[in-house]
Amino acid sequence: MADSTERRARDTIHAGGEWRAAVSGATREILDPADALPFAVVAEGDEKDTDLAVAAARRAFDAGPWPHTPAAERAALLRRVADLLVRDRETLGLLESRDAGKTVEEGRVDIDCVADAFRYFADLVAGEAPGRVVDAGSPDIHSVVVHEPVGVCAMITPWNYPLLQASWKIAPALAAGNTFVIKPSEITPLTTVALIELLTEADLPAGVANIVTGPGHTVGARLAEHPDVDLVSFTGGLASGTKVAQAAAPSVKKVALELGGKNPNVVFADACATEEGFDTAVDQALNAAFIHSGQVCSAGARLIVEESVRDRFVTELARRAGRIRLGRGTADGVECGPLVSEQQRAKVEAYVESALKEGAVLRSGGKRPAPCAERPEAGYFYEPTVLDRCHREMRVVREEVFGPVLTVETFRTEDEAVTLANDTEYGLAGAVWTADAGRARRVAGRLRHGTVWINDFHPYLPQAEWGGFGKSGVGRELGPAGLAEYRETKHVYQNLAPRPVRWFAG
Ligand code: NAD
Repeated sequence: MADSTERRARDTIHAGGEWRAAVSGATREILDPADALPFAVVAEGDEKDTDLAVAAARRAFDAGPWPHTPAAERAALLRRVADLLVRDRETLGLLESRDAGKTVEEGRVDIDCVADAFRYFADLVAGEAPGRVVDAGSPDIHSVVVHEPVGVCAMITPWNYPLLQASWKIAPALAAGNTFVIKPSEITPLTTVALIELLTEADLPAGVANIVTGPGHTVGARLAEHPDVDLVSFTGGLASGTKVAQAAAPSVKKVALELGGKNPNVVFADACATEEGFDTAVDQALNAAFIHSGQVCSAGARLIVEESVRDRFVTELARRAGRIRLGRGTADGVECGPLVSEQQRAKVEAYVESALKEGAVLRSGGKRPAPCAERPEAGYFYEPTVLDRCHREMRVVREEVFGPVLTVETFRTEDEAVTLANDTEYGLAGAVWTADAGRARRVAGRLRHGTVWINDFHPYLPQAEWGGFGKSGVGRELGPAGLAEYRETKHVYQNLAPRPVRWFAG
């Protein structure tokens, strides 16, 4: 990774196997959200750089070896990438922490999950049958359904889990034999640039993996509309996702959208009947809402708790939220980093202000913390905030805040709990906490969300599909469906004894 430091200082666009600066020569400073100081400079690509990268990916797909490389060889390459990620875990974890503001330990865990994604998709394609033979009802017909790569894939990723979101696209796309151009978030591009270097080190042929660093309205928009792109896979907010779908429509390319969430965490009183149960449910509600300062698409930002335990639950939750140690992600003992940008903090502040005006009761946080040695004044810190007495008419309850803000609503009956939990235009993830196994299954069955956790929050498995109902998106990542996104299905029908059909007499 040593020689990449220099490159990161400018030439972060990779097209056709070459590292380059932007055609325009423009650059962008990457800020550390803990002190707002620049710590890297990257190329600021635009439409011209995008066109070059797409052309390289097109050539590599149409005339290069990768789409026809046997699955076992593709799997072996993905496993080499996983090994390289493990080798560079410390460097990459630290880079992710500085780029996105998360703690270094979270950064390391992200890298482990990235390596897991590469291994999972390697195993999935390595163990597959080459096609599915279909019984056509005649010994003279050989009919088989095979899978082929889609072609040139465009990938657009957000800033909260920069490398993890990239890996959920890159690993299956490569496993299936595609070529790609990725555009990471303009504010957190560094680990994705590093991953492209690792793919080269693992001997991926030139032109298969391409990256353009730059903004959404230029690079992202061009990728979405580009006629030579066959598929666009987008992870980010609802507003940008809608634009991507619109830009992609005229060329009828495949579109996958992983968008936001407003995720309910439903706690029944019976889950809190024992001291241990109560402690676990509170602890996990804290984790659900505040890990990575709530900048998680599946954050449990809506606590929906049974009325009879609300006071005790919220009092303990607010007490513990007030004790979360905020600071620079690289500092020892810090539990939560800053928000990613000034803009993101301003958005969070506006939501809290509007909630208080609409009658929410502040139980914890609600302001910027006092600066200290591990929390520079210029950093984008905001205290974990608990807002009690919330209701579904409030903006803070309906819209994705994407920050450390937990709203509290209450219910009296199971039906009421389900109605509240489903009362969102999104449908990404949700949880139910109860000691009653029958109720757990009943409620899980009625929740309209892509992932439902019972007595847990946040875990995901590479083997299980991830994605949303409603406005949380279109398509799935991870699991077999996450591979299928990157494939075309082809039916090959062979007549072994062709004869005239005489449909037309003449
Ligand atoms: P964002 O929508 O602002 O940006 C996401 C990406 O889209 C960035 O790379 C950005 O440059 C690009 N972009 C912006 N406008 C574009 C346009 N017009 N055309 C093409 N690309 C464009 O989102 P963000 O603020 O980076 O990330 C936060 C959002 O991502 C949240 O809503 C969060 O819930 C969502 N997210 C979802 C998942 C999931 O798995 N469903 C995972 C992580 C994040």
